[in-house]
This record gives sequence, structure tokens and C-alpha cells, in this order.
Amino acid sequence: MKKTLLRQLPKVDYLINNDEIQKMIDEYPRKIILKMINETLDEIRKNILDESLTEAVDEKVIIDTINNKVTDYLSFSLKRVINGTGVIIHTNLGRSIINYETSQHTASINNGYSNLEYDIELGKRGLRYTHIEKVLMELTGAEGALVVNNNAAAVMLVLNTIAKDKEAVVSRGELVEIGGSFRVPEVMKISGGTLIEIGTTNKTHLKDFENNINDNTGAILKVHTSNYKILGFTKEVPVEDLVALGKEKNIPVVLDLGSGTLIDLSKYGLSVETTVLEQVEKGIDIITFSGDKLLGGPQAGIIVGKKKYIDAIKSNQLIRALRVGKMTISALEATLRYYFDEEKAIEKIPTLRMITETYDGVNERANKLLNYFDAENSNIKIIKGESQVGGGTFPLDVIPSALIEINSSKLSASQFASRLRNLEVPIIARISENKILLDVRTLQDEDFEYIASSIKNIME
Ligand SMILES: *Cc1c(COP(=O)(O)O)cnc(C)c1O
Repeated sequence: MKKTLLRQLPKVDYLINNDEIQKMIDEYPRKIILKMINETLDEIRKNILDESLTEAVDEKVIIDTINNKVTDYLSFSLKRVINGTGVIIHTNLGRSIINYETSQHTASINNGYSNLEYDIELGKRGLRYTHIEKVLMELTGAEGALVVNNNAAAVMLVLNTIAKDKEAVVSRGELVEIGGSFRVPEVMKISGGTLIEIGTTNKTHLKDFENNINDNTGAILKVHTSNYKILGFTKEVPVEDLVALGKEKNIPVVLDLGSGTLIDLSKYGLSVETTVLEQVEKGIDIITFSGDKLLGGPQAGIIVGKKKYIDAIKSNQLIRALRVGKMTISALEATLRYYFDEEKAIEKIPTLRMITETYDGVNERANKLLNYFDAENSNIKIIKGESQVGGGTFPLDVIPSALIEINSSKLSASQFASRLRNLEVPIIARISENKILLDVRTLQDEDFEYIASSIKNIME
């Protein structure tokens, strides 16, 4: 039986001459097609041998499998998806998105040469950091600024510069892990410093800092507890006291702000979150934060602070390994410039626009999306729900939102979600109580037509 099935399998030479395969060969590399023919035949052979396949496979099925494998293999791995989860800074879906104008600007920098490291006025070598340093100084009030690959790199670079072979004191309440890959103790180790944990998880006093500072202390480190809150019987040392202590002992105070916002978002209904400017004003020596969390720009780590420390960081050789490219610099410069006018920043920076969009605004857009469906389609409706900021920011805040709820009589919610994920532009949905939900807050109007027609197709 197995032998017969194996014998019946078409040969590679035979498949190559099939009309459809020939058409593929006109379009795609022959090498890839041969690879996929062999892979397909190997899989069928294996299934015959382990008896998971007990009847002959249709030639058309084999050709279709090869065709799918070839298109899969040749399609982009990193591609655009539609975020229906309602998590705005979604760590798995690329965190912050940038707007069309910013993308266009970045594209123009990439399509041609640029003055990345060229001083146009003097006609000689310039520095890549100058492009964003001034705007960062302007927006944060800091004496100097620098940008590296991400905030983890920023923290590492800062600690390596000021606390290598020295000690850095940090409260036990702030030994955070962010997204499984950023852990304060680990970053400390890599930077070459020694972490001195002080206080307890819920309470740390100024005297804990005072008692643990010695001649070999290189930094007082404060870490924003981004993705969690310690509530109840707690005490943390006010930044002002740390700054005074740092001054007295001549030890720099470093703040890893994590998200780092330039705008007070409590005006828009979120919890009060300190701004970078406020922290600079309080006299912190060095502050680091991400470019693609609340700031809403590209992936980057931003370092701002006192000139003497920024200068020291700039001359650290590690910077060469952590520096950013022109794509990042151009997207970050374009994003930062919006902040000269707060209203413009809210309007133009997608992350801020999504965070601040009112419930009525989202609901109106949800109705627009619903209009693409037949009025009598009772399987699609708008419900009230909640969005999240995400990215380890505002962990306790939820934002009222309007969601599209889909009921399918044929498919389970997880089957439906899988069909949505397998679209050419995948749609990532939320599932709740066996229903598919799309939070309109994180959907873009330009995608409504595609979303509606995709859903209709799956429902048919
Ligand atoms: C997110 C975060 C980081 C890591 O930032 P990346 O930009 O992801 O490298 C570090 N520290 C804190 C407090 C954070 O919230």
C-alpha cells in the first residue's frame, strides 16, 4: 500500500513541465521553485510513511501546495498589519507608528544623499548628532542631548560612562523588568557597574541612599516603574531629595524615565505622568527615555542632561556600536518638530492622536466602518469597550472606546481571528467571550474599506 502510494507520486521532472509550474518559473526564480517542489514531495512521502496519509494525492493539490509555498517564501517577512486590539503602543505590533508626512521625509532622506555627517555651511565633516540635539534641548530644557538605538542602549551607555567599575545605588522598588528583555540588574552588569540594591520593595528612604553611598559610588539611579504600580503602604524618595544628595556628594543622579512624555496627558483624562521637562527642571543630571513609546517617534533611546555628562557620554567608544542611522534621525527630527506646538503634536503624531481621541470621535468612526456593511446584518454591531495605552505606560488607565463586534454562525472566534490574521494585510483582532472584537481606536480610516470587505469575504 505505502509502496504503491510512493510510486504514484509525480516525479520532479514531470512537475517542472506542468503548465502552472512553468508559469511560476517565468515569474519567480527556478531555484526556489525546485526547492519547494522537493519540500512538498518530501512532506507527502513522510506522511505516507507514517501513515497519516493513506490515499493518493491529487496532482492539483500538489501543484497548489507548491504554489502557496513559493508565494509564502517570496513574500516579505516583516509586513504591515492592521491593529484591531486597541492597544496603542503595542509592543508586538511595532510600538508607535509614524505619520505619512514623517515617512515621506524619511523616504526622501533615504532615496538620496544627505548631510548626515556633513556641515553644509563649512563644507566639511559634521556630526550626525547635531541634527536633533538642538531641538531636544529646546523641548526638554536640557543642556545637551544624544540619541542611540533604544532606551536600553541609552541606560547601558550612561551607566558604562559614569559607573563602570563603580557602584550604582538603586531602590529595590525599582528593579524593573520591561517586556522580558530589559532588566535593570542585567543592564547594570553589562555596563560594567555594580548594582547596590537599597531599601525594600515598597519603601525606600533617603537614609537608605545616604547609608549606601561611599567613595566608589558612581551613580544614583532612579528607574520609572513603567509597567506596574506599587500601591498601599509605600514610600519613595522625592526626586528633589535625590538631586540635593547627589549635589552634596558630587554623584550624578540618573533617571531612566522609560516612556518619557513631553506633554502632560492628564489634560486628556489619563493619570498624571511627569514630563521630561519637569524632571530636567528638578535638576536631574541625566535622563533617558524611549523614542517610540509616548513620544510617538521611531525606535530610539534619547539621553538628555547636563552638558558635562552628555559630553562624557559622547566620547564613550561604545557609542559607535549603539548609534542610530539616518532613517531614525530623520523620523525622530520630524516627530520632535511637531512638539513646538502641542496642538499640532496631538493632531499629527499618531500615538498621541489615538490616545487623546474622544469616545465620541471613535464612535463616529466606528459608525463609518459599520456603514460598509448591510444595515440588516445583525452579526456586526458597535459595542462599548476599553483601549489601553500599552508599551508599559499607564498600566492602570483604560480609555473608553467603541469596538466592532463580529458574530459568526459558521466559525468560532479563534477560527475567525486566524482567518483575519492570514489575510494579505493581516488584521489582528481581540477575542472576548467567543466574539471577535475590533477596537476602532487603533484602526485607520484608510483601511475601513479593506477591513469591511475582508470580513464580508470571511463571513460568506
Ligand atoms: C521601556 C523601558 C525601557 C526599555 O526601553 P526600550 O526603548 O524598549 O529599549 C527601559 N526602562 C524603562 C523604565 C522602560 O519603561
